Amino acid sequence: MPMNTGFSARHGTAGTRGAPGSPQRLPTVVVGAGPYGLSTAAWLSAAGTPRRVFGDPMECWRANMPAGMYLKSVPAASSLSAPESGYRLADFRAARGRGPVGDRYPVPVEEMTAYGQWFQERRVPELEHQKVRAVGHADGLFAVTLDSGEEFLAENVVMATGQVPFAHEPAELTGPLPGDLVSHTSRHRDLTRFSGQRVAVLGGGQSALESAALLHEAGASPTVIVRAASVAFGSPPGTDRPSDRPLPVRIVKPGSPLGPGWSLLACSYGGGAFRHLPQEMRMRLVRNVLGPSGGWWLRHRVDGRVPVLCGRTVRSTGAEDGTVRLEVEGVGTGVGTEVLRADHLLLATGYRVDVDRLKLLTPELRRQVWTFHGAPRLSSGFESSVPGLFFTGLAAAPTFGPVLRFVAGTGFAARRVARSVATGTRTLP
Ligand SMILES: Cc1cc2nc3c(=O)[nH]c(=O)nc-3n(C[C@H](O)[C@H](O)[C@H](O)COP(=O)(O)OP(=O)(O)OC[C@H]3O[C@@H](n4cnc5c(N)ncnc54)[C@H](O)[C@@H]3O)c2cc1C
Repeated sequence: MPMNTGFSARHGTAGTRGAPGSPQRLPTVVVGAGPYGLSTAAWLSAAGTPRRVFGDPMECWRANMPAGMYLKSVPAASSLSAPESGYRLADFRAARGRGPVGDRYPVPVEEMTAYGQWFQERRVPELEHQKVRAVGHADGLFAVTLDSGEEFLAENVVMATGQVPFAHEPAELTGPLPGDLVSHTSRHRDLTRFSGQRVAVLGGGQSALESAALLHEAGASPTVIVRAASVAFGSPPGTDRPSDRPLPVRIVKPGSPLGPGWSLLACSYGGGAFRHLPQEMRMRLVRNVLGPSGGWWLRHRVDGRVPVLCGRTVRSTGAEDGTVRLEVEGVGTGVGTEVLRADHLLLATGYRVDVDRLKLLTPELRRQVWTFHGAPRLSSGFESSVPGLFFTGLAAAPTFGPVLRFVAGTGFAARRVARSVATGTRTLP
């Protein structure tokens, strides 16, 4: 892996980069217009940073999440971030003539998507609705190619491409199956296409349980296969505002954007400190904090309606007469191996950060990014070992913690990225 030696200020090389704020400065490119890309753009704009922002607003929420889904995060923790007030989810609702809502209101995905679009129109009107095809290195700058064929140089690139490129599809399960018999949940907007079919859903988290509920409601026959001994559901919040809970309860379990409890409070606001924890501990925490569980409003749609096989793992798969044959084995349950048949295997197997899967970065550029367990090592300003190349959102979670897996982390991330870009100062990743 090439060593990065340029830890001095990135700006000011005559003829290539302008000093921060100077008129000849090349743009900072933001790739992606989801919550992290849009929030980053809002903060860059406030800092007066020349920028170009690319993507379809909230595309992942429109195309890669199931219609009819509800957010697990509460409304107060589901706002994009801008330096100015007036752009929160609550402001969007007020602008649409809808009343205030609290923690007991599950936000429909359609409302979240409309809110993101509303935010973009007001706060990031410069968004260019096209895809970035490639990003490469060019003399310490970035050569950016768009789907339109346009090519230009950028001073910085902020990768805000979200979780979809990191969808985890275990090769040993997908390998033996033709593409139409197996898919990851992120490939589906409309689960009604499975109506009348038997669908084996692999996983025990929100995505698995919600997909199973939606499949059942669409007239499909889902069976959930979970490695854990049981599935967990959240508890309904006792009040709409955490501050309305009795003081002793608040002391034992203070409210936070990630939920009640001291550890969640620390993860919500301690992203800067999280970065200094040992690497392995960070990976473990990112995986385990807020581990697999269903939203409280999901329990009655799953319990007694959808078969859930706990303590099981899928040993092998195969195609037989146009259907999926699954060899399912008990995990410490005394249950032997069973054979299940389904018309489709739906993988709710989550996401794993791996820079190598970001194919829009040239192989040469990817090789220059220092990684751990596939995730980019990042400076306190979200900058990678390649000066000027930033990663935000899920790709930054192994560095800054679980809050980066959620919209609640947009303020922390966007503020830091914008400051780092504006000052051009670097710290070691
Ligand atoms: C089923 C599901 C439910 C979830 N529920 C919640 C929840 O309740 N609360 C919560 O806080 N979080 C939730 N999350 C996580 C949430 O999706 C992320 O926190 C959030 O979307 C991260 O925002 P982002 O901008 O990083 O990524 P995304 O929203 O994925 O946005 C990335 C964008 O980049 C674009 N892009 C990719 N490549 C290119 C390119 N080459 N050129 C241009 N654009 C590109 C994509 O089109 C996409 O729109 C959920 C995730 C899933 C999968």
